[in-house]
Formats: sequence, C-alpha cells, structure tokens
Amino acid sequence: MPAGASPRMPRHSLYSLTESSDCGPEKEEEEDSPKRLTPLEKLTRDMCHDEKTIKDLTVGKRVGFYKVRGEIGCGNFSKVKLAFHALTKDKVAIKVMEKMRLDLQTQRMLSREISNMESLYHPNVLRLYEVVETPCRLYLVLEYAGGGDLHSRLTSEGKLTDPESKIVFAQILSAVKYMHDNSIIHRDMKAENVLYSCSGCVKVADFGFSTRINNRNQMLDTFCGSPPYAAPELFKDESYLGPPVDVWAMGVLLFFMVTGTMPFRADTVPKLRRSVIEGVYALPMWVSAPCQRLIRGILKPDPSERYALDQMLGCEWLLPVELFRTARPLQQLNPVYLLEAGTGRMMQEEEDVRAALQELGVTQEHILDNQCKNSRSPFTGMYRIVLHRIQRNSGTERPPIITGVVKDPKRDSLRAYRNLRHTSKLCVLS
Ligand code: AMP
Repeated sequence: MPAGASPRMPRHSLYSLTESSDCGPEKEEEEDSPKRLTPLEKLTRDMCHDEKTIKDLTVGKRVGFYKVRGEIGCGNFSKVKLAFHALTKDKVAIKVMEKMRLDLQTQRMLSREISNMESLYHPNVLRLYEVVETPCRLYLVLEYAGGGDLHSRLTSEGKLTDPESKIVFAQILSAVKYMHDNSIIHRDMKAENVLYSCSGCVKVADFGFSTRINNRNQMLDTFCGSPPYAAPELFKDESYLGPPVDVWAMGVLLFFMVTGTMPFRADTVPKLRRSVIEGVYALPMWVSAPCQRLIRGILKPDPSERYALDQMLGCEWLLPVELFRTARPLQQLNPVYLLEAGTGRMMQEEEDVRAALQELGVTQEHILDNQCKNSRSPFTGMYRIVLHRIQRNSGTERPPIITGVVKDPKRDSLRAYRNLRHTSKLCVLS
C-alpha cells in the first residue's frame, strides 16, 4: 500500500448492512489507490490465483480454509489429520474420507453422524465445526482433542484413581444425559471414543453409530458398537431400547476405568456373548463401596432393572462432584445468531466473536448468504471455531471439581491394595 493511502474498511460490517452504502468518497480513492484486502479476501484471492496455494489445495495440503498437517489417527473408513485454520490459526482435527470407499450403509451412517453432531452442543461432546466436500473426499472438521483417548491412557498407565474416575465419569454421564434428553443414542460408547481435550475435559466422540429416536420406548434393531461393551439384549434379542444400551456400555467403561480391566473378557465373540449373557463379573475389593454399588446398578442383565441416567446422577459415588453447567442455546452454533441481538450473559461473548470475525473480514453478507448450509459453510466453520476459542478462554470448559469427600471406611481399610496395577487385555473383536 503506498504511503499515505488510508486503509479501506470492509464494505459491510457485521453490525449493519447499510454502514458503507454511501461509498462516494471511497470510490474516488479506489480508483487511484490499490485496495487493502481483508485477511479473508486475501485468502480467497490466493485460493484462486496463487500457484502455491492452488497446488496445496490440489494435493490435499490444504482443504478449504484449513492447512493440513500430519496424521493423528486412523479409523475404519477414515484418516484423522491435524490441521490449522488459515485465518484464525486454531488447531482442528480433520476426519478425511474417500468417497469411493464408502458403501451405501457407511454413507448413511456418515450422514447421521453429521446431522446428530449438528444437533448437539455440550462441553463434553466433541464439536463439529464444518463439513467440506470435494469430488473425491469428504472432510469433517472437528474440535481437536489433544490429550489422547481414554483407552490409550488406561492401557498405558493402568486404572484411574477414584477421584480421577469420578471426574471423567461425571463428564461422560453429563454428555450422555444431554444426548438422551435430545433423543440421540450414541450406541458406541467405549474408552476409545472418549477423548481428552488440552484443558483436561473429556469429550465423547464418534457418532458414526448414533441414532435419533422418536420416543424412549422406540425399539431399535441394528447391532451396533463393540462386543465387549454390548449389553446382553443386543446378543440375545431381536430388538432393544436405546437408552439402556448406552447405560450398559457406560457400566463397562466405568469398570474399565476403576480396575484397568474389562468385566467381560473372552478370546472369541461366541464366548464373550456367553459371558455377557451370564452377566457374571468380579469386582475387585479395592473399588470403593459407592462405586461398586453404581457398577452393580448399571450392569443389570435385565434392561428394565438397569439404572436410569437420573439414578446414576444421584448416586452416592458422584455426590461430591460438581456436575452441572448451564446449557447453552443450540442456535448459538449458527452464525446468524450473531446478527440477532443477544441479551444477558451471552453479550460479551457475542461481542468478542463479532469483533474477531469482523477483523478477519467476515461480513453480515457472508453470513446471510450462507444461511441453511449449516456446517457446510466456511463461515459457519470460522464462527464456530472462534466462538469455541472465546468460550474456552473465558473458562467455560473446565473439568468438574470434587467439592467434598465422602468417607468410605472400606476403602480406607484397603489402603494396601492401592498400588496394585492391572493391565487391560482387551480382545480385538470388532
Ligand atoms: P475415529 O476414526 O473417530 O475412530 O478416530 C481415529 C483416531 O483418531 C482416534 O482414536 C483418535 O486417536 C484420533 N482422533 C479422532 N478424532 C480426534 C480429534 N477430534 N482430536 C484428536 N484426535 C482425534
């Protein structure tokens, strides 16, 4: 920009569409001074004209507005890569799927995964920021959970301590309660699908098997999930109720967390099936009595006798954990929310998001033009990423704290067992 040239403001601000409509004097300037581009304008120009950026887009080093780095994980039909938003600089995880490899059933699962994630907004549910589609690939841009998954932690470091288990389990419970309250059944709850974020919170991930139910009595008939976590009714009945199946899997998960081993183990699926249907498992003595009671209440073979989520929330073991946070309105995930003046507590957050986006060059026009696209809009992606960062920075995403100690004489008398470590021997069945 030549010396003395005044920087040009974005044509429309997020606050008002008419703000710069009287562009008489600006127009005169435009003719003899080069236009100062916003970061967004510069990026979109590079994506069309810059040789290196175009090459990166062609070879997959860039996807939409994201710069892709190395691989961080691998699923059945996908690779998970680390990436950065080119404008906001935030880290994200991108799940990459080759469309050619997706059969009809997988495509159906994928579209459910997207729509179910789109309808969830909870601090312990992994966030979907954006979906990018190219002729050959589909990319799910997800919140990056940099602390690894619970399964790796349990298998490498052994069981969690009682307070650690409480803190992790309380978050999982809060997430599943929220999902069920919103008619979503996860159907693949397992330690591999619980990720630690950098802030120490846990996030329930992988909604590939999730389904939406019309009511709590709706019977489902597809066997989903991982056999060691599967409820007995999944092995023996033709149909099952959704909520108790997630509850059972959480019981297996809790057992795994507090003991470092799985309650039902076998080297083949038929043997595992027998073991789950028999429902016999051995809880080690060092597990605290309130936790034992919770596990026994959950791992009841008859789904009608199994604990409901509310019973779990009120159980003695979780009493000292501060559980609940205020639920945020779901519409906050859509950037149009910014254009509708908010009131009350959300105001500062909105203002900060608005200012950050405006600085990058996102205008009201961009947001209005992308309505109805939900996560398939790069502006929704940017908005959700910036919103999430601002929420994290303001401390809204912290693991729960233990506010008191429930005295457990049995546990005290078993101090000698505390350092016993149990290595998990998970059979690979799925
Ligand atoms: P998935 O295909 O969802 O089973 O993911 C495969 C692996 O990628 C997981 O086991 C994680 O190690 C890693 N991964 C998936 N999603 C994320 C994420 N959002 N953040 C960090 N790592 C992830």
